[in-house]
Amino acid sequence: MNLMNDIMLKAENISKSFENVHAVNDLSFEIKKGEIYGLLGPNGAGKTTTIKMILGLLEPDQGEISVLGLHPERDEIELKNRIGYVSEEPLIYKSLTPKELFNFIASIRKLDGEKVTKKLAEYLEGLNAVEYYERLISTLSRGNKQKIQIIAAILHDPQLLILDEPLAGLDAKSVKVVKEILELHTQRGGSVLFSTHIMEVAEDLCDVIGIVNQGKLVAVGTVDELRERANTLGEDMDLEDIFLKLTDQDESVNLIIEKLRASIN
Ligand code: ATP
Repeated sequence: MNLMNDIMLKAENISKSFENVHAVNDLSFEIKKGEIYGLLGPNGAGKTTTIKMILGLLEPDQGEISVLGLHPERDEIELKNRIGYVSEEPLIYKSLTPKELFNFIASIRKLDGEKVTKKLAEYLEGLNAVEYYERLISTLSRGNKQKIQIIAAILHDPQLLILDEPLAGLDAKSVKVVKEILELHTQRGGSVLFSTHIMEVAEDLCDVIGIVNQGKLVAVGTVDELRERANTLGEDMDLEDIFLKLTDQDESVNLIIEKLRASIN
């Protein structure tokens, strides 16, 4: 077996600066076939910048990215056919209804009508989206726009699904359904990269977690590996604690909590 075929994404020593900010600083990671990889980090850690470089929306200052063996900028069109992307802010066509959007996607991607209809019916029902199927996207709530964006990204069965904070704004039931959709996607051989700043979400869903802070990867591993590492760092450390410690937020959080308690008492 050629192991290289199993690598869906490889980022090697990528960096990106904006004026004086090192948004991404010498970051390397890879995602294998069938894997859910979570980029976990606090606000401003560089997650969105990393994702934009992977999509070819931003050019790295340094380093190399290979997505499904393709170059993000040079092979932009082929890549668009083979990946699905859910942005942090819903960017989808607001002057269309979900029905019009999905018809449009099915037609430009030349998808099998029967398969799409079947899949759509399941997704729409699972995500409680049937009732606004024919309402303008601009009139939908943030969470409902997000659901439509997720369905739109997965309809063509992409090999790699990239989601920036996909669960932010979704209600509990939808979170469960989206998790199931992502797991089914990987069972069929697809891979997933998603970003989150919520430890619980990463812990729940990811095969591999890469913890990012100030543009750098400070830890990477399975949940169990990170848990083992947490045990070596101190007693009673759960993953939330290790995340805060590795991202240098533990002392400041404790200080804030102490101050809050003092001012409330
Ligand atoms: P969040 O969890 O809040 O979405 P993030 O991990 O996705 O954060 P990025 O959006 O990648 O973080 O931002 C990383 C750093 O780069 C931040 O300091 C941000 O202010 C800066 N940055 C991002 N885009 C730009 C830009 N276009 N111009 C200037 N600075 C930028």
